[in-house]
Amino acid sequence: MDRIALLIIDVQYDFLPPSGSLAAEHGEEILPIIEDLLDETKWDWPVIVASQDYHPRDHISFATTHPPHKPFEPLLLKDARGTNYEQTLWPEHCIQGTKGSEIEESVKEKLDKWSDKVKLSRKGTHIGLEAYSAFEGYITEFSNPSEPTLEWSSGKPPESTLPEQSPLSLYLRQKGIEKVVIVGLATDFCVFQTALSSISASFDTLLLGPAMRGISKEGTEKAFERLRSMGGTVIDQGDTNWNTKIRDWAK
Ligand SMILES: [Zn+2]
Repeated sequence: MDRIALLIIDVQYDFLPPSGSLAAEHGEEILPIIEDLLDETKWDWPVIVASQDYHPRDHISFATTHPPHKPFEPLLLKDARGTNYEQTLWPEHCIQGTKGSEIEESVKEKLDKWSDKVKLSRKGTHIGLEAYSAFEGYITEFSNPSEPTLEWSSGKPPESTLPEQSPLSLYLRQKGIEKVVIVGLATDFCVFQTALSSISASFDTLLLGPAMRGISKEGTEKAFERLRSMGGTVIDQGDTNWNTKIRDWAK
C-alpha cells in the first residue's frame, strides 16, 4: 500500500447510533470494516489520518446559536471570514470535552496501535466557521492531540486556502502520498466534502461505500454520482468484493 493514505472521517459518538445527536442511520455497520482496515496483519498503510469534528459550545452551525431557528433549517449567515453562505443548522454535536466528540472506542484502540503513522485532523474548531472537510482542519498528534490555538478557535481565522495548500494536503505530500482511501461519516456531508477537497488537491481518491453511511439516502446517491463524475472511484455500499477492489486500485 505504497503512497496510499487511509482517511477515517468523523467516527465519533455523536454521528453514531444509538445515542448520537446527529447519528447516521446504521452508522454502526461500518465499524467492523474500519477495524478490518486497521488490522496491521492485513493492511500496511504508510499514513492514516482520522478527522474529528470538534466544536466550541456556541458554534455557528448549531440551531441553538440562532434562536428561534430549528435544526435542519437552512439559514443565510456571514462567517468569521466575512463570507455569506447558506448554513444547514444542526443539532448540537461533537462539542469539545463531551463524550459525543470522542472517536468511537474500538476504532480509537486500533488507531493507537499505529502510533506515529496516525495523525488527527481537528476541524470545525473555530466558533465562526463551518468546516466539513478534513482538509479544513489542523493536523495534530492522534494519541496526544493539541487544543486549537486562537486562530483556530475564536481569533482572526487562517486565510482560506486552496485544498492543495491545506494543512492535510501539505502533510500528505510531505509523506509522499499520491492516493487516498476515504471511509467514515457522514457520506453526504463530511465524507463528501473531504473527497471533493482530495480530488481538487489532485490525490487519486477512492471512496469505500461499505465503510460509510449518510444522513439521507438521496444525498448519499448524489454525492457518489458527483464524485464519480469528477474522477473519484466509488465502491458501492453493497459491494462485498471491496477488499480485492482496493488492492487492485492500489497497484
Ligand atoms: Zn459539525
